[in-house]
Amino acid sequence: MLKSKFFGSFLGLAVGDALGAPIEFEVRDSYKEVIEMREGGPFNLKIGQWTDDTSLALCIAMSLIEKRNFDPEDIIHRFHQWFRVGYLSCTGHCFDIGNTTKAALLRYEEKGELYSGSEADPATNGSIMRLAPIPLFFHRNLDQTLFFAGESSRITHAPIECMDACKALALLIHRALSGSPKETVLNYIKGELDLCNEIEEILLGSYKRKSRAEISAKGLASTCLEAALWSFDQTDNFNDGVLLAVNLGEDSDTTGAVYGQLAGAFYGIEGISPDFLEKLWNREMLESVALDLYKHRI
Ligand SMILES: [Mg+2]
Repeated sequence: MLKSKFFGSFLGLAVGDALGAPIEFEVRDSYKEVIEMREGGPFNLKIGQWTDDTSLALCIAMSLIEKRNFDPEDIIHRFHQWFRVGYLSCTGHCFDIGNTTKAALLRYEEKGELYSGSEADPATNGSIMRLAPIPLFFHRNLDQTLFFAGESSRITHAPIECMDACKALALLIHRALSGSPKETVLNYIKGELDLCNEIEEILLGSYKRKSRAEISAKGLASTCLEAALWSFDQTDNFNDGVLLAVNLGEDSDTTGAVYGQLAGAFYGIEGISPDFLEKLWNREMLESVALDLYKHRI
């Protein structure tokens, strides 16, 4: 049961990423609705190929597995290898990089700081998109899960909204892994975590009162979290939810990846369409990493 949820969360991230990638940056509803894996998009990807969301999640996962702990030096080194030589990229090079991540990795090149995020950067969704390995690896300890969710963000994304969005999603993934019903996963009491207002409002249920037109998918950490929770709340299975999420358009791959981490943890790997999984690029490697996260969780 728990193993299925680990696989669901990690491969769910990649499935959402790969489903959304072909329509990334497209204005909502300006494209043929996504109902299956397809090729193309701004990076002209092959069917099932995933982007930076999954590559960076793999960097964190492999570091946690090898180091048996959170090692920011090793994680940013792997991020940098991805940036410069295409480590863990589907295509062998870095083709999809957010401005905030790029700015942080350039600062790392220049100054060698392990936490290269800047509080002055825009609060974008580049750290929440790669989060899943943290709540998976630290599943036995909620305090560590929350703490390292924030730390993993500030390697590249230091604004409080980015760090708190990661903590918020980490809490929900932690509960989903524990097998709680959806109402319990999403039930949040004011003050439960020490979060900025913007992120706390979302956990308190802002998404439950919003229509599709009111949900933004334009790349901020806060609205990305809200879009993922909205998609999770509106549906009762992984596949309907992931298609709802990616078809919000714009930053479709990342909305899909954030949704997929949570929904995969909730529904388990059996909840994900076999057709999506069969077409996923390098599925064997993703499964092997998910298994190692499960085996070595602390
Ligand atoms: Mg991407």
